[in-house]
Order: sequence, then C-alpha cells, then structure tokens
Amino acid sequence: MTATKPQSARWVVVAGLGPGSDGMVTPEVSAAIADATDIIGYIPYVARIAPRAGLTLHASDNRVELDRAGHALELAAAGGRVVVVSSGDPGVFAMASALFEALESAPQYLDLDIRILPGITAMLAAAAAAGAPLGHDFACINLSDNLKPFDLLARRVRLCAQADLAMAFYNPRSASRPDTFGRILEILRVECAPHTLITFARAVSTPEQRLETVTLDMARPEMADMRTVVLVGNSATRKLGRFIYTPRKAL
Ligand code: SAH
Repeated sequence: MTATKPQSARWVVVAGLGPGSDGMVTPEVSAAIADATDIIGYIPYVARIAPRAGLTLHASDNRVELDRAGHALELAAAGGRVVVVSSGDPGVFAMASALFEALESAPQYLDLDIRILPGITAMLAAAAAAGAPLGHDFACINLSDNLKPFDLLARRVRLCAQADLAMAFYNPRSASRPDTFGRILEILRVECAPHTLITFARAVSTPEQRLETVTLDMARPEMADMRTVVLVGNSATRKLGRFIYTPRKAL
C-alpha cells in the first residue's frame, strides 16, 4: 500500500483490474494486491490474481454484489487487508457503488480505511483500440435492465441519440435478455442516420480481442455478447484508414 501506511493497518480497497491485459493494471492496484490478505470478487476477476502464501482468494458468482461487499467490510473489521476486484474501473457498473450501498446499511464500518482505486474502463480501452470514436461528448449506458426498467433505458438512449451524443453501451446482450439490444438498435434506427458508425469491441486487450465497425443499417444484435462494449458514433464520427474517429468540433 502507500509508504505512510503501516502493514498491520486494516483496510478495504475496491480496485479496477482494467479490461484484461496485465499492462493495463495500474501500479497502485498492483501494490494493493501485493499487500492484501484477502481478495474478493466475481470468479473470472479473482482468477486473474496469482495465488501466494498469506493471501486468501474469495471468488463468488455474479449478482451477489451486496453480499460480497458486506463480506469485504466484515473481513477488514476483523483485521484483514481486503481488495475487492472489478474488471475495468470499479466505479463503472461495478463494485464501488455496491460497497457504498452495503455501507449505508452498516454504517458502523464507515470508520474503516476505505479507498476506491480506478482502472481503465472497457469503453476507453476499446476507443483507444479503434482510434478516437469518443473524442467529442459521449454518454455511457448500461444496457442491462436488471437494475432499471427497460422504459427508462429506452428513454435515455433516445434522448442521447437526439442530442447527437456518441454512446458506449456496456452489458449489451445476455442469454437472460436476448431482445434488449435489438430493441435498442431499433430506437437508434429511428433517431440516427443509417450511416452512423457502430464499433463492436470484444474482449479488448486480451488475446481474443476483436473489433468490427459497421454502419447502423448493417448492425445486428448477434454482433454483441457480454464480452462486448458497443461504441456508437455521433453524426460526425468517420473512418480514416483503419481508424474510427470523432472530430473535436461538433457538426
Ligand atoms: N467495470 C467494468 C464494466 C463491468 S460491466 C469496466 O469498467 O469496464 C461488464 C461489461 O463491461 C461487459 O458486458 C462489457 O460490455 C464490458 N467489458 C468489460 N471488459 C471488456 C473487455 N475487455 N472488452 C470489451 N468489453 C468489456
């Protein structure tokens, strides 16, 4: 941890591991992991942490974020140095908010040393791999309707499109809600020009990385899965050689 912090201090850090490659893990996140007694998180994220003596790995299934956050607080209160891991950035549709939700119902833990360490979120790694499609104003939207009604999601996408914002869609498609992304594409087809550029960025910064850019009229729901972040250009977004970019000046 930091040079000023004694090794015996108990703390909880919520850390972003970045989109996949080790090179995109920040030095402060690596230092927290090196100093931790416990790592908590969703199974595939915990799998990215190298086991070592003195470190306990607590991997859990998805959708138990609040339990996980409560567990982290209890372990730290009992003397642990706990890192809760998220992919990308922990504040983007991930564990940082879950930890604060848990804290709201267990305020006795507010005195713990709690820190959020940022990471490189998927849309920024994807944008960099494509060029600069988010180079002007943009919105970042979670297409999962687990925690919000579809009508609210649809309204946000419609208003963003009307405002000519570029957009990044997280959690675009899953087996449990196969139709959502198709319905979102229908909204875009009403609000945006058919030549609007859409980049499907899958498994960014991993060996399976795949980027595909199509025009809105050619976009199909099957082009996305849960390892894909979808970048929708604004009306000025264009191709330049193998790159996609959005100029800094609005049309
Ligand atoms: N906290 C994470 C997002 C968690 S939500 C972050 O900041 O990146 C999970 C969604 O993130 C996935 O459904 C996908 O849309 C996106 N995602 C995460 N890692 C990705 C990667 N390496 N490549 C493309 N999309 C990714």
